[in-house]
Amino acid sequence: MRREQTQRVKALLDELDYDFSNFTLEGFADWLAQRRRRQIVFVPRSMPASVSGAWVKGHDKDYIFYEMDTPIVHQAHIQLHEMAHMLCGHPTVEVGPQQTQALLRHTGRIDSQALEPLLQRSVHSGQAEEEAESLTLFIQEQVFAHKKAEELYKTVPSDIASEFEDYFQKLEG
Ligand SMILES: [Zn+2]
Repeated sequence: MRREQTQRVKALLDELDYDFSNFTLEGFADWLAQRRRRQIVFVPRSMPASVSGAWVKGHDKDYIFYEMDTPIVHQAHIQLHEMAHMLCGHPTVEVGPQQTQALLRHTGRIDSQALEPLLQRSVHSGQAEEEAESLTLFIQEQVFAHKKAEELYKTVPSDIASEFEDYFQKLEG
C-alpha cells in the first residue's frame, strides 16, 4: 500500500471518537450506525464464491451481507471489513426497494443470475480494498491493545426477521 494511503487510514483511525476499552463488535456497529444516521442490517447468507461480504446501500438502511458458511472469526472479520469501507467513505452499490427485498428474501445460496452480479458490483477497487483492510487491521490492533480480542470472535447478530415484519407492515399499512 502506498504511504499516503496508510497515512489517510491512520488519520481516519485517529479521528474515530470511539472508546476501544469497551469494544464489542455489536457496540461498534451501533456506534457507526448512529454516526452515519443510518441503520445497519447484518444479513448472513451463503455467498457466491466470488464475494465473501457485500455492503449494499438501500433507500434508508445499509445492508451488510456476509458469508455464513465460514468460521465465526472470519464472519466477524467480514463484518468489520465492510464497516471499514463505510468509515473510509468508499462508494458502494445502491439498490431500490425491490432489489433489496429480492436480496433479503433469497435465503439459500445467492447464485441467482440476477443477484450475483449485483453483489459483485459491491466489490471495491484494489486501492479501496487495501484501505478498508488496513483500517480493519488498525481497528483490530486497538482492540488487541485493550485486551478485548475475544470480542472480535463474536459477530453482530442479524435482525433479519424483524426486517421482514417491517416490510410487510409497510405493505399492509
Ligand atoms: Zn472490501
